[in-house]
Amino acid sequence: MTNELKYFIGNWKMFGDYGSIEIIKKIHNFNTKFTKNYKNSKIILCVPSTLISFFNKKLKSKLISIGGQNCHHEQKYGPFTGSISSSMLKKVGAKYVIIGHSENRKEGETNLLLKKKISSAIKENLVVIFCIGESYLQKKNGKTFSVLRKQLKSSINKKFNHNKIIIAYEPIWSIGTGKIPKIEDLRKTFKFIIKEYKKNFSLKNHPVVLYGGSVNDRNISVFSSIPEISGFLIGGASQSSKKFIDIIKNYYK
Ligand code: PEP
Repeated sequence: MTNELKYFIGNWKMFGDYGSIEIIKKIHNFNTKFTKNYKNSKIILCVPSTLISFFNKKLKSKLISIGGQNCHHEQKYGPFTGSISSSMLKKVGAKYVIIGHSENRKEGETNLLLKKKISSAIKENLVVIFCIGESYLQKKNGKTFSVLRKQLKSSINKKFNHNKIIIAYEPIWSIGTGKIPKIEDLRKTFKFIIKEYKKNFSLKNHPVVLYGGSVNDRNISVFSSIPEISGFLIGGASQSSKKFIDIIKNYYK
């Protein structure tokens, strides 16, 4: 078993209601019972904004952290119907926020807009889970690295607090499709992201880079051969306590 901290982050997407606290309780109980076995794992659940405050009140322990799934680029308040700012997330107890998910980029989020969102979230002391990834066409045309380079360079400022940024590499063609990259490709991509990040932002430290895209309890073990993967952003499978727990168990098997 590796001694490095590994992240298991759930992205519930548009899922969940008050009753879903049962899912969190089961994950929490598993974590409490096996704290020794899985002491190097960090569990974070990014849930709909409507549930953040409720879950935080119900969850007394710090074993699971709660995050949001997006925020507006304006840090506090403003005339933006239907939007939620980073300060509003912070006030209801979010510690993390996903920014740049491909499902939101598809709705028109640009690299520049994402830069503003990251900046506002960091100012609120939230940890940003910044998603990057190529489409199937970009991959087919050999553009993966240039796409990732552009996403990193255009949305992250050298002056940002890099301790507050987690990168999630999520190939768009892998999200919700059951397809995962070839392990050799993934190894190369992780090495590329880490090198690129350190070079661009003149960092000595290794950034935290997660993999996301169709992770499940059956395929999780293949990822453990890549030490550069610091954890996982898990969509569909995180909506079930059993599937989520099995992913963690099987990762460390
Ligand atoms: C995601 O939406 O971030 C994701 C990784 O989804 P899934 O695990 O369902 O592919």
